[in-house]
Amino acid sequence: MCSAQNVCLCFFKNTYRNVCFLKNINSINKGVKNLIIVMLGAPGSGKGTVAKLLTDTLNIEHISTGDMFREEIKSGSKLGKELENYMSDGKLVPDDVVIKILDERLSRPTAQNGVVLDGFPRTKIQAEHLKQLLEKRNKKVDVAIQLNIPDEDIIYRTVKRRICSNKDCGAIYNLEFNKPKQDGICDVCGSELYRREDDNEETVKRRIDTYHKRSEPIIKYFEEEGILYTVDLRAQDQVTKQDIDKWLKDINKKI
Ligand code: ADP
Ligand code: ZN
Repeated sequence: MCSAQNVCLCFFKNTYRNVCFLKNINSINKGVKNLIIVMLGAPGSGKGTVAKLLTDTLNIEHISTGDMFREEIKSGSKLGKELENYMSDGKLVPDDVVIKILDERLSRPTAQNGVVLDGFPRTKIQAEHLKQLLEKRNKKVDVAIQLNIPDEDIIYRTVKRRICSNKDCGAIYNLEFNKPKQDGICDVCGSELYRREDDNEETVKRRIDTYHKRSEPIIKYFEEEGILYTVDLRAQDQVTKQDIDKWLKDINKKI
């Protein structure tokens, strides 16, 4: 579904059905390491896994709003309690709260060499604010990677998801198709695995609904900006380091 005026990059030819848009990527003379990448996709589509592969490969900052909020909740702060109310209900945290937190996060020295934004923006207002937040820093989003997954696969992927409790590791497993070797233990670092509070079927259904109503419209926004790149995934597809290398190679040719 690549129209003629788009520069279309189709990846995963043998693995996935592809819908790819990528045009007007014009970060002239910009090293691939300084990329600003936005991850788009429904809950459980694999944004976190892909973001981690991208940040490991590029050695850039991973900014996950969901992880930041979960840390805040753990700290027991007043803000954390507020966040928990929204998150446990499958609702979005209000735009003004998220934007303020992100603005501060983008100011940190560690965010100056490129970032993967995982979970932000999630509304049209956040997308517009992101543009402004980056403009004031003489930056812009280079590519928005959308991971497309059918709704019926989301529940299966989220309720069976288990995550490493070691923040520096954060490996993600699935009890059906990407099991840890030992029950409840991370293969990579040996820490305990946990299930996210909001990864239960009832909350996931609300999160899917919220995604369609509030977040899906921003796919069009990035498409209009000419920087949308979409990959269709099926329930058990696992994106590998090799896939990421292929993406980056092709993306790098265009910037
Ligand atoms: P997922 O993509 O699997 O839903 P996240 O960890 O990205 O998981 O987000 C978990 C929850 O955190 C969301 O359901 C929402 O309540 C809140 N959240 C995360 N990012 C944002 C955001 N940019 N705007 C509003 N709420 C957010
Ligand atoms: Zn681990």
